[in-house]
Amino acid sequence: MLADIPVHRPSSLEEALALLADPPDGERPTPMAGGTDIMVVLNSRHVVPSSVLDLWKLDELRGLSVQDDGTLWIGALSTYRSIIASPLANAHCPALVEAARTVGAVQIQSRGTLGGNVANASPAGDSLPVLLAQGCDVVLQSRDGGRRTRSFDGFYAGYRQADIQPGELIIGFRIHALPPGATSWYRKVGTRLAQAISKVVLAGVAACGDDGTLTTLRIAAGSVAPTPIRLAAAEAAGLGGRPTDVAAAVGAGARADVTPIDDVRSNALYRREVSGRLVESWVRSL
Ligand SMILES: Cc1cc2nc3c(=O)[nH]c(=O)nc-3n(C[C@H](O)[C@H](O)[C@H](O)COP(=O)(O)OP(=O)(O)OC[C@H]3O[C@@H](n4cnc5c(N)ncnc54)[C@H](O)[C@@H]3O)c2cc1C
Repeated sequence: MLADIPVHRPSSLEEALALLADPPDGERPTPMAGGTDIMVVLNSRHVVPSSVLDLWKLDELRGLSVQDDGTLWIGALSTYRSIIASPLANAHCPALVEAARTVGAVQIQSRGTLGGNVANASPAGDSLPVLLAQGCDVVLQSRDGGRRTRSFDGFYAGYRQADIQPGELIIGFRIHALPPGATSWYRKVGTRLAQAISKVVLAGVAACGDDGTLTTLRIAAGSVAPTPIRLAAAEAAGLGGRPTDVAAAVGAGARADVTPIDDVRSNALYRREVSGRLVESWVRSL
C-alpha cells in the first residue's frame, strides 16, 4: 500500500526530474500521475517500488492547446475528464473524446491521465489506437538528456515495453491535425458500457477525394496484438477505392492484420471476427 512507501511530492517539473536523476534514497522512484493503474499494482503487492514520485501537483504538465502547425498539444497529466470538456479536443481529435468517455467511469475519468494510459503500455489502453490512427508524437524529458520527441508509431517495442528511458517523464503529446475533409472513428467493444477493459478497440481516420475514392485511410486497433497496431493490410486494401467497393476487402485485411489471443476477457476468434466486421461496416458508411 502507498502508506508503506516513501512518496516524493515535487512542486515543479524541474524538481521531479532532479528526483528521478538523483534520487535521495539511491533508488529511482516510480512516477505516479492519477494513480489509477499504479494503485492496483501496489495493492496487489506484485511489485513494490522503493518510493513513488507523485506528479499530481505539476500543473505545467496539464492543459491542451493548438500549435501553429495545427497539432493539438495535450499535457501528459491531462485527465480524461479535462479532455472530454475541452472544446479543442472535441474539434481537433473527436475520437479521443469518444475514447475518454469509455474509460472506466466518472471516477477513473477524473483521475486517470493520458500520460498514464500511454506509459502504462497496456495493449488494451483505450486511447492508444486513437493516437496511432490520427498520428501523434510523444514528448519526453529528463534532467540530463533534455527534451526529445518521437513518433507514437513504434513507441512500444513489445508487450508493455514503452520507449521511456530511465529518468524520463512523458511531458505531453502532439496529435497531428486531421487531413482536410477527414473524419475520425472510434469503437470499443467490452462486456458493458462502463468499467470494462476492451475486448477489441478500434480507431480510424478517413477522407475521400472529389471522385469519391479513399485518399486517406488510417486504422489502428488495440487488444488484438501484444501492442496497439496499425492495420496495414486493411489500409492497403482500401486506399484508392470507393468505400462501398472496398469495404469487404478492408474487413478481410483487418482480420489478417490482427494476432489476438484467448484470455479472460475474450477469445482470438471473436476478436478477429469483430475487428473485421466493425472495420468493414465503418468503411461502408464513409
Ligand atoms: C476501475 C478501473 C477502470 C479502468 N478502466 C479503464 C478503461 O476503460 N480503459 C483504459 O484504457 N484504462 C482503464 N483503466 C486503467 C487506467 O485508469 C488508465 O490506464 C489511466 O489512463 C492511467 O492513468 P493514471 O494517470 O492513473 O496512471 P498511473 O496509475 O499514475 O501510472 C500508470 C503508469 O504510467 C507511469 N506514468 C504515469 N504518468 C507518467 C508520465 N508522465 N511519464 C512517465 N511515466 C508515467 C507510472 O509510473 C505507471 O507505470 C482502469 C483502471 C481502473 C482502476
